Amino acid sequence: MKAVVWHGKHNVQVDRVPDPQILNPRDAIIRVTLSGICGSDLHLYNGIVPTMKEGDILGHEFMGVVVELGSGVTNFSKGDRVVVPFPISCGDCWYCKQGLWSLCDNSNPNSFMLEKLYGDTGAGIFGYSHLYGGYAGGQAEYVRVPYADVGLHKVPEELSDEQVLFLTDIFPTGYQAAENCSIRDGDTVAVWGCGPVGLLAMKSAQHLGATNVIGIDRFPERLEMAKRHCDAEVINYEEQDVAEVLHHMTGGRGPDACIDAVGTEAHGSGMEAAYDMVKQTLRLESDRPIALRQLIRACRKGGTVSIPGVYSGFVDKMPMGAVFAKGLTLRAGQTHVHRYLDPLLKLIAQGAIDTSFIITHRMALEEAPAGYRLFNEKKDGCIKIVLNPRL
Ligand code: NAD
Ligand code: ZN
Repeated sequence: MKAVVWHGKHNVQVDRVPDPQILNPRDAIIRVTLSGICGSDLHLYNGIVPTMKEGDILGHEFMGVVVELGSGVTNFSKGDRVVVPFPISCGDCWYCKQGLWSLCDNSNPNSFMLEKLYGDTGAGIFGYSHLYGGYAGGQAEYVRVPYADVGLHKVPEELSDEQVLFLTDIFPTGYQAAENCSIRDGDTVAVWGCGPVGLLAMKSAQHLGATNVIGIDRFPERLEMAKRHCDAEVINYEEQDVAEVLHHMTGGRGPDACIDAVGTEAHGSGMEAAYDMVKQTLRLESDRPIALRQLIRACRKGGTVSIPGVYSGFVDKMPMGAVFAKGLTLRAGQTHVHRYLDPLLKLIAQGAIDTSFIITHRMALEEAPAGYRLFNEKKDGCIKIVLNPRL
């Protein structure tokens, strides 16, 4: 089959690779009909996740049709049309039973790699390096899904692929980021990063009752999309002083909640220079995690800082004094996607939220190398790319 394969920093190619096989009775094989390129894939593309190996298949946002089932899968049949959450979860461990799906204890055979550094770490993830289990991803014609009874979710025929694809990751991610803000009617929520995650966090924040949503970025087309589709006020951080404008917009108090939909590669953070060091030591150190620091500084006293943006290694010199003095709540982590599938699918089916507005580029799987380049450089108005193996 054809698949998008990692060959090194800034080098992905579409290769012919062996078809996936059922390895375990609880596996299923999916024929992929649509997959997304995620901001998280850019961390792999930019070489900041140290355990990618040449030949690894990328992709953790994908959906398709069941074509093969292991003997232990009971809830699905061949031909079912499904979306697949990006975390791989067994459904049986203590964490899965608490609904903490992205922290599954059984799906990441390589969790020992981070245990020393972090104390513990999360679930396996499709196409996301050997730190997350080394599973083949879904930017491919076919993919193996472990724990299929837990990891597949049927979607109704009347909804198109583009309407439901983002249930696999970024819609739940935006939603969880907003939910973590404990929004009350009348709240102001500021979102750093108007990429797919930030945009869907803004949509979700409004749905959860925020009265004012503010989007912060530097790309005009992203700010424009936040205005047009998320009814947000916007700040271009290259043209305006973010702290000052937020102060002014909130009557001097600061936003009730601030969402970091940027993560470790924040522009202007100095992180770019640390990538090579990270590869060797996993100790990402910088005294300038600009976006996150701004969030902590801007947030009102007693407010919440919600961090869906991905961080890895160590980010030093965090203003913990501000977190303490202002009594802030910090919430972070990979999304517990399974938790949101039913409720968010319902919102899509009812027409309450349409997430397909973020798609700016529809490409064939073969065009993935150009797609990665475009998305990484934020060129050609690129906000979200979907890859279709049938084009
Ligand atoms: P993206 O690259 O399209 O968006 C990031 C945006 O942040 C860009 O528009 C960029 O211009 C903006 N930005 C960069 N520096 C900034 C700064 N200093 N201030 C304000 N904005 C800044 O990526 P995305 O797909 O929207 O993903 C965003 C983040 O969410 C990534 O870190 C990704 O890894 C993470 N993510 C996390 C989860 C999860 O489970 N927690 C799931 C999906 C994605
Ligand atoms: Zn993703």
